[in-house]
Amino acid sequence: MITPKKLKIYSLSNIDSIPQIKILNKDELFALKVISRVLPFRTNNYVLEELVNWDNIPDDPIYILNFMQKGMLKNHHFEQMANAVIKNDDKDIENTVNRIRNELNPNPAGQSKLNIPTLNNEPVPGLQHKYRETVLVFPSSGQTCHAYCTFCFRWSQFVKSDETKFSTCIKNDFFSYLLEHKEVTDVLFTGGDPMIMGVKNLKKYLLPLLAPEYSHIQSIRIGTKSLSYWPYRFVTDSDADEILSLFKQVKSSGKNISIMANFSHYVELTTEIVKEAISRILSTGTQIRTQSPLLKNINDKPIIWEKMWKEQVELGCIPYYMFVERNTGSKNYFEIPLIQAYNTYRNAIIKTSGLSRTARGPVMSSLPGKVLINGIMEIRGEKVFQLMLIQGRNPEWCFKPFFAKYDPTATWLNELKPALGEKKFFYQDELDKMIYDSGNYEMTNNKRLFNSQLRFNYN
Ligand SMILES: *Cc1c(COP(=O)(O)O)cnc(C)c1O
Ligand code: SF4
Repeated sequence: MITPKKLKIYSLSNIDSIPQIKILNKDELFALKVISRVLPFRTNNYVLEELVNWDNIPDDPIYILNFMQKGMLKNHHFEQMANAVIKNDDKDIENTVNRIRNELNPNPAGQSKLNIPTLNNEPVPGLQHKYRETVLVFPSSGQTCHAYCTFCFRWSQFVKSDETKFSTCIKNDFFSYLLEHKEVTDVLFTGGDPMIMGVKNLKKYLLPLLAPEYSHIQSIRIGTKSLSYWPYRFVTDSDADEILSLFKQVKSSGKNISIMANFSHYVELTTEIVKEAISRILSTGTQIRTQSPLLKNINDKPIIWEKMWKEQVELGCIPYYMFVERNTGSKNYFEIPLIQAYNTYRNAIIKTSGLSRTARGPVMSSLPGKVLINGIMEIRGEKVFQLMLIQGRNPEWCFKPFFAKYDPTATWLNELKPALGEKKFFYQDELDKMIYDSGNYEMTNNKRLFNSQLRFNYN
């Protein structure tokens, strides 16, 4: 039998009231408090009571997923922040926080500027349209999560004031944009976590899309980590049944509805409540596809992915993406060389049946598009990575293998160099032009500087 739970959220302001916090030693607690000034900290009673194994501190993957560890800030940042906290001068703390945040690449892959579409020459706030078929929508009331991942690449969203948050509300009328773009087949609600919203709010975003004028929209997707962080959302929360009815309504209107569920570890799939939540969602005709970045210290062993994918398939979910951790926030702590990412993917997927092999990876969600590391080869005596775009700013770029010099330490696309005597990757000129034309680069009249800065800032 499932006992309902009432969500209790913990953040920096009530951190000392976490019942399990006494288990941390003095250094662990200090590091947590220092880093939570810069990167947002949030956990809840489900994570604390049912997911974290407190006998396994500090190595427990779910603990690391929610609780900041010393290495999550670079040493010099940590020292600066620690000193400010010890001095306890509000002004100094604020300045230090802001300075460090700015040095952490808050908006990687051109997110903040390059992907924002326009309607009648005005930017449409809270939308991203990078790939032809799919528009991302960031509902303003879905810009938090039931808990925060220490690896979060959207962290800068959570620490901003409301005016600078990248989000939309109904009155911004992103619907008009969708009406004018018949090439769009997929609308992906994302955040934060849209499942933070109550059913009333969620309806405002979903139901208009069921009208006949949106018949070009075939799929509605909801990106969420609520199945990991708060599965009660779909079972015992007061509007849980209404949420399921809403999903059913979308499905019976003839559209596909998919939950894009973030699961980072098989532990998140083990509780009775998450299994019940998955089963209830699937019973509405909604699909569940799963994805996560690959993270050092959390899920960097092939066995973890093998077990996770097999368990997901058994529960009726569809494995979808293994991402390379983005170059933002605490990347240093989580990053894994691309070669190791590839080996982890391969050593996991070869142990599974075809039903798990819908998982694509490792994939870098980078400036030109989603770049898949397809393998390592030797061509004319040169060791190379074989890469391929599986989504691109220009769809014509996709599914054409290309090559980068093998580099055992590279962790992201911007560290890779073209191989086989090429000077640049095949898409580079066109990509530069796209960005140049969009006028969205840090203004400089020096084309050479522009190009090198661009690669540094946006890859
Ligand atoms: C990943 C992603 C999508 C969705 O891509 P699919 O391959 O269709 O899942 C859409 N927009 C952006 C910006 C993305 O990063
Ligand atoms: S669930 Fe997603 S948006 Fe929320 S903290 Fe985790 S990674 Fe960030």
